[in-house]
Amino acid sequence: MLKQRFTIKTSAISIFYLLIWLSGGFFIGYLVRGKSQKVIGLHNVMPDQILLSGISDYLTMSVTDFSRMINHIKKRLPITTDVGARDTALLTFDDGVKNNFEVVFPILEKAAVGAYFFVPLSVAVSQRVTYIDRIFMWADFAPAGVHQVPREIGLSGASEILLDTTDSRFEAAQKLAKAAKKNEASRRAIEGWIDAVEPDLRARCGDSYHRLRFTAMSTEDLARLKNRGHFVGAHSVNHAQLSLLSDDALQRDFEQCASAIDNSYNTRIYCYPFGGPNDVSSMAASCCQATGFEAAFLNVSVVPGHLREHGAYALPRISIPPHAPSWVIDAKLTGFDSLLRSIFGSQ
Ligand SMILES: [Zn+2]
Repeated sequence: MLKQRFTIKTSAISIFYLLIWLSGGFFIGYLVRGKSQKVIGLHNVMPDQILLSGISDYLTMSVTDFSRMINHIKKRLPITTDVGARDTALLTFDDGVKNNFEVVFPILEKAAVGAYFFVPLSVAVSQRVTYIDRIFMWADFAPAGVHQVPREIGLSGASEILLDTTDSRFEAAQKLAKAAKKNEASRRAIEGWIDAVEPDLRARCGDSYHRLRFTAMSTEDLARLKNRGHFVGAHSVNHAQLSLLSDDALQRDFEQCASAIDNSYNTRIYCYPFGGPNDVSSMAASCCQATGFEAAFLNVSVVPGHLREHGAYALPRISIPPHAPSWVIDAKLTGFDSLLRSIFGSQ
């Protein structure tokens, strides 16, 4: 009941935070807040002039917003790469997409701060972005109209997909992602189907956009990040939803990632793919610990009940919306936003 009553629109929450901000409430928050580290989960940062408003950029920050956010955080808290250091902020970037090297890296160099880059092993080795990014590329840039979906993809209840509005494109991406997560044969079929039209999709989104958003960091890019003091960490082999894997497959996935430490990776910190309450099982956290990782990040600001006993293997992360104004960033950094979420049961 309370939960339903609290489903206020984001804009209303933002205004609420603005009022607290104007009243100086967050400064009190910074003084009295818990001293726990604030880990920030980010994905893509794109140059303002090629940032698009489509579904591929729903987790993307512009260079302007990202630089402003970094400056704001630096004013409030030291940014560190020391996991668990109290009273600090730590930056993480998921999925190993090229913009992390070409766009994020120079900004971090300028700001003299380090970060973690979590890259699925298959992305680090094959240098192809995850199936999730490839599905977004198709759903965002395939021409409008009805598309026949090959039977081997195993889309439940439909053999065709209609792409017209942004909503229908987002829905299409979710449907394909669901099929891909369910079994590996579907995932491979989807990837093959998208590969065949990739040149057309690239032409439709433009070469620069395609390179920064839909190609992966190279081995050289990753080596350069590591040489400059950043950390490249594991993010599963193929970006599977770990809670859907059998115990054997889960074990193998973690073992493969662990064996790439000191080669593809230079840290024993892990980051769960997707990272939501339904994506990470208690078994996944146990496997993570048993295979020699030191800690692992979720993608939610409140640790779900079934993972609380896993301590360092279920560390929360906060996400800052792409256009977050200063008062929303403050609400996140003081822990005020997480506190409200834990009281009202929202993620
Ligand atoms: Zn990811």
